[in-house]
Amino acid sequence: MLKTLILIAMLFTAGCASTKTYTPPQTVGELRSLYTQLGRVSAITHNILVANTPICSKLKTYYGFIPMSLKEQGNEEQKKLAIKAFNLKKQPTVTYVDPKRAADKAGLRVGDAIISANDNRWSDTKSPDEFTKLLNEAQHSPHLRLGILRGKNKQVLNLIADKACDYSFILSDTTEHMAIARNKEIIVDLGAAKLLKRDDELAFFISHELAHILLGHTLPERKKELDDYKMRNIIEKDADALGIRLMIRAGYDPEGAETALKSTDLIDSGPVTNFFNYHGSYMSVDERIQYLREVVNQ
Ligand SMILES: [Zn+2]
Repeated sequence: MLKTLILIAMLFTAGCASTKTYTPPQTVGELRSLYTQLGRVSAITHNILVANTPICSKLKTYYGFIPMSLKEQGNEEQKKLAIKAFNLKKQPTVTYVDPKRAADKAGLRVGDAIISANDNRWSDTKSPDEFTKLLNEAQHSPHLRLGILRGKNKQVLNLIADKACDYSFILSDTTEHMAIARNKEIIVDLGAAKLLKRDDELAFFISHELAHILLGHTLPERKKELDDYKMRNIIEKDADALGIRLMIRAGYDPEGAETALKSTDLIDSGPVTNFFNYHGSYMSVDERIQYLREVVNQ
């Protein structure tokens, strides 16, 4: 669902955060749970982006790990919490490893501190920011040689990148239950990630938004069509038809689309959300499920 009415209090991207009016996690449990959802959304999004490379014009490298830097952790309290939650070191520390991807295959583990990336050593850089920048750049190359510190042991791991469609995701820290597409980004509400327990369900939301991007619906020149009821109906059907194929290609069960739509409809069908037309009145949930079944059975 493309949605214009959204308040994003805080955006999390893989490894970095921007601040607005945002209440950060207050306990170790809350922080770990936030990063568990961040990792889960990242893994599902990238399964879809890797599986659908034949239809994407631009590809990126993907290694499948999320490092955290102490410097990004706001005030002293937040720093202490991050150190406790992830055993955070002075070097970037791994907080998530995608089980299907290069980092996991090479043996990278949560809690590993990254001390070198390709030919750049943490100890040689002038500041933590400089090393973070070099680590990000190194992830654009097809091979990544990571020096890590695990406990007191140093190791070098050789990672070979997966190719993925060149789009990114953001986990938006809101209690809403939606996903939206913006330019080349898929934005997923934390509320949706928490509500949709099955990966197949979340995969439908993410695939639908990726379909909007692939079909050019997020281009500025298409904006007028989104406000036109008839055009919007066609646009949403097109995104559903392509989206369900994208998720199937990534190995997800299309039945997840049905339960995802039913769960979010149940929770979002109150008078306020109906008034704002939050999830689009272009089709009722029952009609949409019927339409998706027809697409799958074609
Ligand atoms: Zn949509």
